Amino acid sequence: MTPITIYRGRTVAVFGLGTSGLATCAALAEGGANVIAFDDKPAKVAEAQDKGVATGDLRQADWKNIAALVLAPGVPLTHPEPHWVVLQARRADVEIIGDIELFCRERRARAPRSPFAAITGTNGKSTTTALLAHIFAKNGRAVAVGGNLGTPILSLPPPSQTRVHVIECSSFQIDLAPTIDPSVGILLNVTPDHIDRHGSFEHYAAIKERLIKGVAYGGTAVVGVDDGVCESVAERAARDGTRVVRVSMRRNFAADGIYLDGDTLIDMHGGERRYALSLGGIGSLRGTHNAQNAACAYAAALALGLEPAAIEFAMRSFPGLHHRMEQVGHKGSVLFINDSKATNADSTANALASFTDIFWIAGGREKEGGIATLERFFPRIRKAYLIGEAAQDFAKTLDRKAAYEVVRTLDRAVEAAARDAEASRLPQPVVLLSPACASYDQYPNFEIRGNEFRDLVLKLPGVERV
Ligand code: ADP
Repeated sequence: MTPITIYRGRTVAVFGLGTSGLATCAALAEGGANVIAFDDKPAKVAEAQDKGVATGDLRQADWKNIAALVLAPGVPLTHPEPHWVVLQARRADVEIIGDIELFCRERRARAPRSPFAAITGTNGKSTTTALLAHIFAKNGRAVAVGGNLGTPILSLPPPSQTRVHVIECSSFQIDLAPTIDPSVGILLNVTPDHIDRHGSFEHYAAIKERLIKGVAYGGTAVVGVDDGVCESVAERAARDGTRVVRVSMRRNFAADGIYLDGDTLIDMHGGERRYALSLGGIGSLRGTHNAQNAACAYAAALALGLEPAAIEFAMRSFPGLHHRMEQVGHKGSVLFINDSKATNADSTANALASFTDIFWIAGGREKEGGIATLERFFPRIRKAYLIGEAAQDFAKTLDRKAAYEVVRTLDRAVEAAARDAEASRLPQPVVLLSPACASYDQYPNFEIRGNEFRDLVLKLPGVERV
């Protein structure tokens, strides 16, 4: 835990009692603050009480005595409209912050020079966070990894000179962290997402930029410059005097930056080729999107003192994350990939672009637009196995463009795809679950869908775990 001592003797309200909210309460109490914890759901309040957290009805609170409101990132701050607790705090002129802001303030007070990498972007945050943490761990560095991914930041050990914090930040968390000041900030990409929660694309992009603007003096900003927003963010940061490392999968840099050449990342520094990092054969980092994640993790690890060859060596043993092009197993030359996290066509495009002979399991609860945007990949699809509510619509899109079968359920899809892939005698056939759909018609979430796929695959006779 990271005890928060900067509110010692003062009262702090905490609203939203999920895992991170409870961790915040514990960290504040441990540091000597008086906590008033609350949630709209009475069951959450009761659960917190059972855990020894001091709760109180914030609707009746005397806000004059409250030093800050710590809000869970899931609670609307601005859009679609501010939550009542936000309005109450604002009326009383009480500042509203999140757990990452508490961490940053405590870090400045206790260990201002401790290594702190913060990662954001529309896509690839979790992969980059896990990869960067893996690189440090493999190099014998103590690592605290969490934030939006996995462990809440305040449940991690405190910041220290001898430990690297690798923290995934969602836009909601950055919105609640006005003074975020990482020693290395990574902005992977910015494309339209969560607009309902941020009001406009401009506002969403401005929040993401805050992580880069906040990079501490002497620190490094790593920016994927393949979209317009990030290109401008990098320019502004460089103009402000921040050290910026540009990363691109689309263009080369003659002087400084990291780019992709085939399956090799080229690191240019002062007009010289500093290092060439081969991603070939790293099964957990297939695809151009993962090359972007790898390049950003490389740049961050380098900025925090690791040597290029040591970074490359560590990368080669990255196991990858579950449900994101996860290699589940193989039977002879047939590879089975679980990409259940791909709940929309854009994510599925990344997976389809990464393989050539694909036996594709798709479907579920359809997203707007369906799979029409994936047409350029249809020539790679040997056959599609369609499941869930979207099956008929997807069949219409595929009709006369790729072979398909409506199988309705995942168990039938796995069986048929495995059989066909094996019989195909192709050199590297892939059975790929990349649904381009939400899971809710058949599963509570994408994790359960992906776990079922993994179980079904591992039960097939002759399949070996990767
Ligand atoms: P996040 O944590 O930002 O949601 P993940 O690392 O969990 O990102 O990856 C989620 C999905 O996003 C992946 O399955 C992949 O399809 C896509 N993705 C991952 N990295 C990138 C990237 N750098 N650019 C575009 N899409 C990506």
